[in-house]
Amino acid sequence: MSKTHSDHPMAFLCDQNLGRLARWLRIMGFDAEYMREWDEKRIQKAISSGRIFLTRRRSMASKPGSIVIESDHLNEQIAELDRILHLEEKIQPFSRCSICNLSLKCAKADDVKNQVPEYVFATHEKFARCPGCSRIYWKGTHPVRAALSLKKIFKGKRG
Ligand SMILES: [Zn+2]
Repeated sequence: MSKTHSDHPMAFLCDQNLGRLARWLRIMGFDAEYMREWDEKRIQKAISSGRIFLTRRRSMASKPGSIVIESDHLNEQIAELDRILHLEEKIQPFSRCSICNLSLKCAKADDVKNQVPEYVFATHEKFARCPGCSRIYWKGTHPVRAALSLKKIFKGKRG
């Protein structure tokens, strides 16, 4: 990993075995690309552009820029990464689409009125939209709630 890496927002590329982890990294607000099949060129490109390559392949352990994930279980995988990269301090829920990996854009309440349930519109002031899939996010959206509860899990860890 480059020395300057901590000055930049963390970005990842997840291998084909880590699709759920990729999704959860996005839910936490991290830029996490996912590759459906092993693609050496893509891995090289990602690493040289400063992405951290996350993989289940032990043969990658000695490769600079990559982290081998040991566990099969999502919670453990997140804990593994947190131990190395201190994810908890950098979590930004409500900032990235969990499906497209794109940064969400603020949306005016009036513009989303017809796209969210009435009670949601009535009880929330802040909305965001994915520029890719147009999905609307608000603080009560499942992924956002999940990330917030994750924060609590991290807190419990230190408690
Ligand atoms: Zn999207």
